[in-house]
Amino acid sequence: MKQLLIVIAIITSTLSTFASEMSTKETTTNKKYPYPFKYSDVVSDNISLVPQDRVVKDWGGNVLMWGEPAASEVEAAGVNLKLERLKVQIAKGREDGVRLYMGGIFFVPHSNIYFKYLAADPTLQEAAIRDIEGKRMLLAWMVDHTYRGVPQYWTCSNNPRSREFYRECVTAAMEAGYDGICIEEPRGSSVSLFAGGCFCDHCMEGFHDYLEKKFTPEELKQKGILNIEDFDYREMVRDVADTREAWVRAYRQGKIPLVADFQDFQVKAAAALVKEMRELAKRMGGEDIIVGAFGAMLGPTWLVNSQYLDFYCSEHKYGPPPEGYKQVTFTYELARALEKPISWSNGNPTAWTYLKQNKAFNMVKGWIALSYAFGHNFGIPHYGWAFPRTKVERWDRHPKNSESCTPHFLLPTEDYIPFYQFVTRNAELFDDYEAVEQVGVLYSHAAIRKRKNEVHNVCWSLLKTNIPYGLALAGDDWLANRLTEKDLSKFEFVVVPEPIMLEGEQQRVLDEWTAKGRAVPWKDVDDVLTRIEPFVSLKSKSNILIRPRKNPSNSTVPVVIHLLNLDYDLAKDAMNRQTDITICLAHKLMDDRDVRSITLLSPESESIQVPFENKPDGVYVSIPEVDIWGMLKLECD
Ligand SMILES: [Zn+2]
Repeated sequence: MKQLLIVIAIITSTLSTFASEMSTKETTTNKKYPYPFKYSDVVSDNISLVPQDRVVKDWGGNVLMWGEPAASEVEAAGVNLKLERLKVQIAKGREDGVRLYMGGIFFVPHSNIYFKYLAADPTLQEAAIRDIEGKRMLLAWMVDHTYRGVPQYWTCSNNPRSREFYRECVTAAMEAGYDGICIEEPRGSSVSLFAGGCFCDHCMEGFHDYLEKKFTPEELKQKGILNIEDFDYREMVRDVADTREAWVRAYRQGKIPLVADFQDFQVKAAAALVKEMRELAKRMGGEDIIVGAFGAMLGPTWLVNSQYLDFYCSEHKYGPPPEGYKQVTFTYELARALEKPISWSNGNPTAWTYLKQNKAFNMVKGWIALSYAFGHNFGIPHYGWAFPRTKVERWDRHPKNSESCTPHFLLPTEDYIPFYQFVTRNAELFDDYEAVEQVGVLYSHAAIRKRKNEVHNVCWSLLKTNIPYGLALAGDDWLANRLTEKDLSKFEFVVVPEPIMLEGEQQRVLDEWTAKGRAVPWKDVDDVLTRIEPFVSLKSKSNILIRPRKNPSNSTVPVVIHLLNLDYDLAKDAMNRQTDITICLAHKLMDDRDVRSITLLSPESESIQVPFENKPDGVYVSIPEVDIWGMLKLECD
């Protein structure tokens, strides 16, 4: 960390005392935490404006994300004071019941906790992503930012200096005692493609090697590379786009030569880097160390590194329900199929800006409920990254020509305490309760990459009809998962959206399932309903999403049912309360056991017993009212 060392000539007596206390005090670290995350976890960032002890005591926070980097910032007499301070902070947090601490590392070192490293280190500034003209680029979504006069350079993840910096961050995080790391922007330099990066020497060298190893001389010739020895991708690109602006135009028009190969090289280089960081973290911190990534909606480029990750933190395109839940629920289901929890779900800058402009603070309560009902965790919303002035007309569309987003939008975090306390108070009704899966949906990654697959719409249709579904993942060279019989056998049957685009063993597995009548082409929801006896169904005209979750090992309460109000009124920033709701629960949902009592629990009101009636086709439950979120606790004999 020589480059980052800030030498302090005068060390105050306070710091001296602090350092000597640290050297004599043994900090204990216990890394034997159970994994995966608990469904009842309450997750906060670790860098928020709210003091850590309040997060723990008032909101019940027990997982802290994005711990500060412990890399050397201030050294005195050979002691990294920051690292020592973090050790104490982590030990104190554990005493308070914080189960997991995540150190943040950023392949794109932005945000206030990394600015200073970049600003203090000219070698990191030089390790920037370059455009076709060789000019350094600024981070596309933070072009207005400066720190001590240094702009926010967009760091190239293939540059040896950047990589050295990431290793320094992981090493220091492990020394500080973090339980794991969360990598922000794990896609590295590949993200800059749309803006015309990265044409730095290191990326060009890497791409050259990639081409040479992957293709035969004949294949290279077909790609227009007559002699790989002296091939320079920049020269080929300059023929169609010799400036950054020209690149952006040509890229949008699909005119950049070898662009698919270049992207393939970049995303795989980034995935290899995630793997390296994982191995380093585990080597230093032990096998229990977990590694996650901060991602967006888990589109194809996010999944190339999924086999090296234990969890996700994600910004989502949330909006007003019901439509505002379409993309996020798909992402939740995709993460579940990947067996990786979204351990910190939150809004993206467009969603937060929309919410800010509409003063729709209560909408967040629905988002919290949605996240937990799907088995993920919504991070305590202290603040949001939003656009300061840009008007956002639609929650689901990134505004054109937007300014840089900043973390300026403060939320009424206290208002959300009852929702988190509800989860903590009823933890036993969250933990170990798994999503019910009745119908499977084939997810072909090759087809998703072509952006032609109708799987999103299929899933949304099933969800709106309260048909519990799960995804059967069929991977490709970007997604490691392979479709197996085991994936398919957990569903009553699997619907197959077009196009399929499978080959080899995965197609054979699907063919076998089709021959057995357990895989059928997707037609519509009515067709699905003719093939199943639904686990849950709505019998009243209520705008409610019903999500059953099961815990077969709980003999008293084998099932809980989450009820989410979808009837949100933006003008009132409130749900239109749903009253006199009747739902039917198929007997098989309770494994044909007799229901003894049903309790309606809610973060906003006292628990009550609700009436129900046993009928031949199921248990009919009468629910007087749901405002934002209700949960039925079914006690069985
Ligand atoms: Zn580069």
